[in-house]
This record gives sequence, structure tokens and C-alpha cells, in this order.
Amino acid sequence: MQLTDRQQLILDIVKREGPITGEQIAERLNLTRATLRPDMAILTMSGMLEARPRVGYFHSGKKPGRVLAEKLHQVKVGEVKSVPVVVPEKCTVYDAVVTMFIEDVGTLFVVREGGFLEGIVSRKDLLKTTLGGQDIHKLPLGVIMTRMPNIIYAEPDESVWEAARKLINHEVDALPVVKASTQEDGTVAYEVIGRFSKTNITRLFVELGEGDY
Ligand code: ADP
Repeated sequence: MQLTDRQQLILDIVKREGPITGEQIAERLNLTRATLRPDMAILTMSGMLEARPRVGYFHSGKKPGRVLAEKLHQVKVGEVKSVPVVVPEKCTVYDAVVTMFIEDVGTLFVVREGGFLEGIVSRKDLLKTTLGGQDIHKLPLGVIMTRMPNIIYAEPDESVWEAARKLINHEVDALPVVKASTQEDGTVAYEVIGRFSKTNITRLFVELGEGDY
């Protein structure tokens, strides 16, 4: 982040004299508080300065890059996830293609009764199958899907940074967001409660850039 000369001056004053009030900073610079307001907003929003009521501004000691990194570790998958689009295992390849178009998603989660994760199907899985010349009106997704336990998933409490790293490391476009629970028979089942994709990250990125998040 590039600071203007005036923002740099303010930062230096606060580093030297903080905690210091807005009024005092304005005096040092021979400017009015109103003139400084946008600069103070940028410096506090970026996390470089912190403001305490009745105390004033002080220097946080954080570099702008560090502030962004902290944010990406703070925001949880559960806060930015989308609604999952799920289909049953017996769903045909043809119906899966139609569902992808209707729901406008690139990945479908295959679930059994109760919404528990069984498999995942991507655009390319479906394209590959249509090229294979099989009858897509009859072929069920169970035959072509990537199946548990080979599915990479995220949990709602995980940071968006961790989930984004999974997308990159495993070269996939989306992760099911799941809630794990132990069943009566002692096995662990994963209820699908959301979808986390590259779109969620791009949206967060835009919002962070606008200073909205
Ligand atoms: P596309 O095929 O549209 O490029 P992906 O890169 O997401 O989409 O999928 C690549 C392959 O990885 C597909 O065979 C798909 O079944 C599988 N896959 C997709 N998402 C996951 C995931 N979260 N965990 C494990 N495998 C996945």
C-alpha cells in the first residue's frame, strides 16, 4: 500500500508522539481536523494506526501486508461459504449436467440420505464421460464421481486462507463445507452444509479491496 506524503507524515508524528489526539496531529501539520479526516480513516482502516476513544491515536506497529494476512486468517469459511448444490448417487450424468446449468455451479456434491457426503463431480468429470460415448441418460453419477475418503473438504471454523491453500495444493475448484459427526455404528459421517469455491475467495478479495470486510 502506497502512502501519500501527508499520510507518511501523520504516521511519523503518531510513531513519535502517540498516543496523540486528532486535534494535536492537525496542529502539528497546521491543518484542520476535517482536512485530515480521510487520511486518518485510511490509516486506521489499514490497521497501521489504532484509535482509542479519549486516548487518541497510536501506532499499531503492523505493516499493511501483515494486516491483510491477519484478516485472511481471521475470516472463517463459515462466514463466506455458499449454499451447496447436492444430488443423489443415482442421479444420471444427463441430470447432473442440467443441474449444473440450472444452479450455475461447476461442482456438484453427491450425498446419501441425511445429506451426508459420498462423492463429488466436476465439470470435467461430466465432459469426460460424454466423450466416452456412454448413455448419459442411464449412467448414474456413482460410477464416475470422486468418492469418499478421497474428497478434500473444509470445516466452517477453518480460516479462508487454509481452505484456499487446499484448493491450490489439490488443484480443485471447490470444497464441500462439512460438519463431521460420529454415527451410532462408530463411523464418522460428513454432513454437507456449504460450498467453498474460488468464487468465494474472489468475492472476499474484492470486498477486502473495497475496505468492506
Ligand atoms: P474441473 O474438472 O472442472 O477442472 P476440478 O479441478 O475441481 O474441476 O476437479 C478435478 C478433479 O478433481 C475431478 O475429477 C473431480 O472429481 C475431483 N475433485 C473436485 N473437487 C474435489 C475435492 N474437493 N476433493 C477431491 N476431489 C475433487
